[in-house]
Amino acid sequence: MTILFISDLHLEANRPEIGEQFLDFLAGEAATADALYILGDLFEAWLGDDDPNPYYGHIKLALRKFTDSGIPTYFMHGNRDFTIGARFSEETGLEILDDPTVVSLYGEDVLLTHGDAMCTDDVQYQQIRAMTRDPAWQAMMLAKSIEERIAFAIQARQESLARGEALSDEIMDVNEDAVVETLRESNVGTMLHGHTHRPAIHVVNFDGRSAKRIVLGDWYEQGSVVRWDAEGPRLETMPR
Ligand code: MN
Repeated sequence: MTILFISDLHLEANRPEIGEQFLDFLAGEAATADALYILGDLFEAWLGDDDPNPYYGHIKLALRKFTDSGIPTYFMHGNRDFTIGARFSEETGLEILDDPTVVSLYGEDVLLTHGDAMCTDDVQYQQIRAMTRDPAWQAMMLAKSIEERIAFAIQARQESLARGEALSDEIMDVNEDAVVETLRESNVGTMLHGHTHRPAIHVVNFDGRSAKRIVLGDWYEQGSVVRWDAEGPRLETMPR
């Protein structure tokens, strides 16, 4: 009886070893889990559910096969794949969750989030985030042809490089005040997120109480998973 959590795989055709490990994970350990939660950035980039990219088609088929076996599988948007929509959900059988969502795990309320919304020190990023999460902006973008969206993505990447953002590929960490605010609003004792690529379990003290912040790692060099059972959560790496 284990519930599995992963995030930040950043799947793309150029890094097939990540996809191979993910497909092995689906066919292996995950196939006997009670549920699987994917907390964002499953894909390196998502141009829209109509993207004919064959590599992503291959991953979608594997997800379909997995969910057809009856295991509840949930997906939350990351900052790389936030345009995943209803068609993807229908094709794969993944249920899309709002960010954040509170779930009850073995009697404990846990807040799930991708994590980027708490990176408030990066003001420019939060401005871009606000723009790109606007339904009107998304509708405008998804109305463009795939070719136009590819050109837009390349341009956005070049602008990001020009700002020096991608020089180190370092993602800014969460802001502690934003973490406390999120915990206070949701009134949970534990939050679980990805995005920062800094896997750890932190204790957060505030308002005279203490909460836990569990951070999943990325899959660039190895897998990262939280295995949650009646004993509680375990954050572990999965060697390639
Ligand atoms: Mn992210």
